[in-house]
Amino acid sequence: ISTTSGGGSNFGFGKTGRIPVGIARKRMRIVVTGGAGFVGSHLVDRLMARGDDVIVIDNFFTGRKENVMHHFGNPRFELIRHDVVEPILLEVDQIYHLACPASPVHYKFNPVKTIKTNVMGTLNMLGLAKRIGARFLLTSTSEVYGDPLEHPQKETYWGHVNPIGVRSCYDEGKRTAETLTMDYHRGAEVEVRIARIFNTYGPRMCLDDGRVVSNFVAQAIRKQPLTVYGDGKQTRSFQYVADLVNGLMALMEGEHIGPFNLGNPGEFTMLELAEVVKETVDSSATIEFHENTADDPHKRKPDISKAKELLNWEPKISLKQGLPLMVSDFRNRILNEDEGKGQ
Ligand code: NAD
Ligand code: UDP
Ligand code: UDP
Repeated sequence: ISTTSGGGSNFGFGKTGRIPVGIARKRMRIVVTGGAGFVGSHLVDRLMARGDDVIVIDNFFTGRKENVMHHFGNPRFELIRHDVVEPILLEVDQIYHLACPASPVHYKFNPVKTIKTNVMGTLNMLGLAKRIGARFLLTSTSEVYGDPLEHPQKETYWGHVNPIGVRSCYDEGKRTAETLTMDYHRGAEVEVRIARIFNTYGPRMCLDDGRVVSNFVAQAIRKQPLTVYGDGKQTRSFQYVADLVNGLMALMEGEHIGPFNLGNPGEFTMLELAEVVKETVDSSATIEFHENTADDPHKRKPDISKAKELLNWEPKISLKQGLPLMVSDFRNRILNEDEGKGQ
């Protein structure tokens, strides 16, 4: 059984995808919506390595075929170009529902579409789960806490969200998706799981994603100044993608509904992050200050005690360990891009 994540690199997952010899496990059919995206494609790699059948549903808004191409030709893998806003008929055991742009740049591009994806897309996937008796996992977000008045954020915190702001299509969309998930659980007995994901980075993020880690890394490689928005004193907590995928799978396989915060509690200001990127990529990189975007949360840091206790999960990869894994992937892709331009 191959356990690599494609392209000959295992992106820090180690051998955890291997099935221990002698332990029989029912082979499942699993759908991953948004499976051609950043997080989804890493999850698909792990499910394929475990020996399951995987169906990816994606409309390729921010996802790319290149992220899952290494599974083409494997009879356990299917890729369907489909928009989750439209209904779909499938027979599966589990649904990982990730379809939704995650970067502010992408989700603000067509805000009404973002709301439709979160509300109608989630409704369709819950309708599917109800019809076929599948277990459903929603990838919600730390953005449901808005610009938080509690720090760090526990799952019991109800949030501080602007309902009419430019981020609301995403924040309120995900809040409604959580509500739908709980209502299908209470009303139709669908088995559900809710993850609240905090900022995650790693290989395969879109180069033009617009999020801070991908921006800084691409800028440092391209010898451009690192663009710090505002005074750079706002904080975020950055989780490496392999840790997140471990958490999502532990949540799906476990007995607890959630919601669970899945994030790395290490907290950095954007200026500190810029320093770590400089150390990792190019110590001569410079910093340029730009005006901040509207409704930008001042701080964000997960309290992960609930996931530690009930899922036996915690992140293992620090920013200093994870960043180089992302940098080598970005270097290769930026190099290919530059070569492509020269032709
Ligand atoms: P991404 O943009 O790389 O992936 C999203 C995928 O969903 C893409 O492949 C995209 O093409 C697909 N998609 C979007 N709209 C769709 C639609 N209507 N129908 C079908 N496919 C559609 O983002 P990601 O970082 O991989 O995020 C995955 C999930 O995790 C999202 O639901 C996001 O909200 C959540 N999340 C991510 C982060 C993070 O830091 N990466 C943080 C919080 C929550
Ligand atoms: N749905 C789907 N696939 C299915 C079952 C349902 O896409 O296998 C969609 C269905 O079209 C509807 C949504 O899920 O838009 C909610 O379905 P549900 O049966 O819960 O509600 P209803 O169809 O009664 O409104
Ligand atoms: N940010 C920045 N420079 C950039 C992109 C983002 O300083 O090039 C800041 C942004 O203002 C925010 C933080 O980085 O305070 C995280 O932004 P991101 O878009 O990555 O994710 P968010 O947590 O806001 O969804």
